[in-house]
Amino acid sequence: MVLYSYAGKILRVNLSTKTIKTEDTKKDIAQLLLGGNGYAAKILWDELKPGIDPLSPENKIVLMTGPITGTGAPGSGFWEACFKSPLTGVWGESACGGWWGPMLKFAGFDGIIIEGASENPVYLWVHDGEAEIKPAEGIWGQTVPKTEEMIRKEIGIPQARVLSIGPAGEKLVRFAGIAVDLERYAGRKGGGALLGSKKVKAVAVYGEKEIPIAKPTEYGKALKECEQAVYASLNSGGGFPNGTLGGYDACNQFGDLPTKYGETGSWEAVSDLYQNFVNKYLVKNRACFGCMQACGRVSQVKEGPFATPVYGGPEYETTAGFTTFMLQKDIEPVIKANYLCNIYGLDTISTSHMIAFAMLCYEKGLITTKDTDGLEVKWGDPDVVIKLVEKIARREGFGDLLAEGVRRAAEKIGGEAPKLALHVKGLEMPYHDPRAGKTQAIEYGTSNTGMDHFHAHETLDVECYGADLGLIPFGLPDPKTIDRFSEDPSKASIAKLVMDWGTVADALVICKFHQYVNLGPDKYAKLLSLATGWKIDGWELLKIGDRIFNLARAFNVREGIRRKDDMLPPRIMQPATTGSTKGVGITNYEGMLNEFYKLEEWDENGIPKPEKLKRLGLNDVANYLASLKS
Ligand code: SF4
Repeated sequence: MVLYSYAGKILRVNLSTKTIKTEDTKKDIAQLLLGGNGYAAKILWDELKPGIDPLSPENKIVLMTGPITGTGAPGSGFWEACFKSPLTGVWGESACGGWWGPMLKFAGFDGIIIEGASENPVYLWVHDGEAEIKPAEGIWGQTVPKTEEMIRKEIGIPQARVLSIGPAGEKLVRFAGIAVDLERYAGRKGGGALLGSKKVKAVAVYGEKEIPIAKPTEYGKALKECEQAVYASLNSGGGFPNGTLGGYDACNQFGDLPTKYGETGSWEAVSDLYQNFVNKYLVKNRACFGCMQACGRVSQVKEGPFATPVYGGPEYETTAGFTTFMLQKDIEPVIKANYLCNIYGLDTISTSHMIAFAMLCYEKGLITTKDTDGLEVKWGDPDVVIKLVEKIARREGFGDLLAEGVRRAAEKIGGEAPKLALHVKGLEMPYHDPRAGKTQAIEYGTSNTGMDHFHAHETLDVECYGADLGLIPFGLPDPKTIDRFSEDPSKASIAKLVMDWGTVADALVICKFHQYVNLGPDKYAKLLSLATGWKIDGWELLKIGDRIFNLARAFNVREGIRRKDDMLPPRIMQPATTGSTKGVGITNYEGMLNEFYKLEEWDENGIPKPEKLKRLGLNDVANYLASLKS
């Protein structure tokens, strides 16, 4: 029977036994959890033993598309990587655009489960309903662009799309990412290290299969309606036509640009950075499959010590990390650092975070030149920044410590370092400041992936920048009426709604930036219904988000996560020292958290209650958690 809008098959590749199997995509799981993070959560809940070492062959990585991937729906060029994170030891999830996801589906597969580990470097070649494990000894050690080039040449299909890791993934840097299409990254939580531990250098995909749509004529009409909605939003100033970096100045004004390792949320020294970037370094924009926004930037520094080739980026997060967070005010070192991270396969957020953390520790005397290979790791020194990126990618000298991520590095440094480290559940803080919009604090504390600004979603966009994400018909207050500084427990209901909707995006596997351009739950529910032939509305989609969020929470609870792990680091709760948030700290976090627990129906230890899980159709999960002692 046709499973409309899905490819209908999932590949299972066991690298230890060198076996490849094809399994049917299961309709009952798809209807309960869609695809992406939802389908992957079910696989990992069922198949991973709790407590395994994330870098052992027992860990698995699931690369998933979703039900509307590759169908031309707005933002449908994404794919998801899900795994137990080598960085955090809990639920790891990373979303990425480009063209790889749709091409996997055109090759005949909804996803790939990679398990076991190879003794020697390999890559997977997936094409037209088939797959092969191929040797990669000659490619191991190469950068991301060189890897893509060599693999395309070897398979002889220039249109093939290549997912790969760089040298950082091979060296098991705990925050190494996974690249596709050169500079698109499933960057966070260490998926690249996990592939490196399995000796998988790349996964190349190509195919021309059609995706079956249940009601193709009506689907085509609905796509047109969505396109018109997107254009209407873009024409009235919505979306991301200037890329994520276009929001840099606004973040600075709102106190949302973490500065000096989170001491404050703004910095005057970078007030003209964005315009300078556009005037001198921006080469062009770039779009993923199925996108009208083209938020991707392509830039170049033509000459000087920070010269680069024309390359993708930098985006907002990268720029914030390599500027204000480490008190470095020039864009050229950012473009260079971004380029290096991309070719070596490093997550730019965690890499910049680690360098800024080293600068803070150096200032406080917690480390000296004896620890740093003789480098004076002073705030904002661009030459030191570039040297440290190189050292981290190779795990060389001091870089070996930084490659462990902030929680492990802080423990090794000792003294007050663990107290200073900005992370939740081991994931380094990204570059939005929760003092600028207090709902973000709840998300940072309760996101299943740790201190994450986009899994499940970015609530600051609602509170600071007026985005309603199409959620007003579903109970979101008009963003203009929300007091961003309030820490009233009612903020929990905003967090819950926005995070459930963000979780849905990762199960549909769409780019979340399309939730900012008039495409709310109703519009995507209509697309999904016409594509699959199922009857589903916006409320049902949000319920699916709730289900997946709680399934991933259960995964974490099984790994030992409890309420204490939902706490925020003290440094980011202290009053900011400059700008529009000067004097603003976070004082009622636990009050908001208590209300969030109530809405989620979690007990006082943060464990989802069995009755809630059963209502969501997760009976086996409910029974397992009921058997746990808090
Ligand atoms: S908005 Fe940006 S990230 Fe999203 S699909 Fe378009 S180009 Fe890709």
